[in-house]
Amino acid sequence: MICDPKNLNRSARSLPMLKIRAGHEAEIQICSQSVLWLKTHWLGRQLICPGPACPMCGGAEGRAHGYVTVILRTGQRPRPYLLEVSPPSWERLISLAKMEQLEVGTGLICTASRRKPKSPLTIEPFGRSENIPTAEASIRRTLDAVSILYGLPVMRPAETQEQWAARSIPLACSMIGQAIAQS
Ligand SMILES: [Zn+2]
Repeated sequence: MICDPKNLNRSARSLPMLKIRAGHEAEIQICSQSVLWLKTHWLGRQLICPGPACPMCGGAEGRAHGYVTVILRTGQRPRPYLLEVSPPSWERLISLAKMEQLEVGTGLICTASRRKPKSPLTIEPFGRSENIPTAEASIRRTLDAVSILYGLPVMRPAETQEQWAARSIPLACSMIGQAIAQS
């Protein structure tokens, strides 16, 4: 079988989404200093809103989703996942961490749980460890995984986040335009 090196590269940079089922709790370690916040539209499937150029909303305020790379410590072997967070659950984590004098960022160890299927995710901090695989500890890792999730290109090695955005925004616009045309 012939493998396209481009596809190999993309699959190596994707991350599975961490799903926390109702009544379950997972121990996670946060791998980046910041959350990647973005807005999406539902047009038969979830699409990234490209901001002011968006044919759907023109960049109007909307519901944000946050993504952060985490290491799942529960289970046989720690491994990286992409965790989706809402602004309220992230703000709650920040205030809980402040009370414990912990910084929300790379290395923070938390429990993530969900009481009922529709309940919001509860993330509670309880410590930190500097022991993180360095390959996972970067916002670029999160950005790549989110790009793959939404069908956008991944960052080129020498590219800045701005250069990547300049390349991706027109593509995100045309994806929304096509989905509007099909609906
Ligand atoms: Zn939009």
